[in-house]
Amino acid sequence: MSRAVIDQTKCDQSLNCKAKRECTVEAFVRENDKWVIDENCIACGNCLEACCQKCIEIV
Ligand code: SF4
Ligand code: SF4
Repeated sequence: MSRAVIDQTKCDQSLNCKAKRECTVEAFVRENDKWVIDENCIACGNCLEACCQKCIEIV
């Protein structure tokens, strides 16, 4: 199933992550001090535009 993935080379790891705010299923989680998107993701795409670094894509 498709899921959103964060490009860790571009993400600024802000604790005020704007993309996370758009996620209605709480798929953004902190893992080893990085934002990752877990299996709750329904690939809705809401977070893609909200990300200030445009570092999220659906794969
Ligand atoms: S808005 Fe994008 S770049 Fe910023 S912390 Fe969230 S995922 Fe990373
Ligand atoms: S694609 Fe939708 S469900 Fe998946 S992380 Fe982004 S906002 Fe959340």
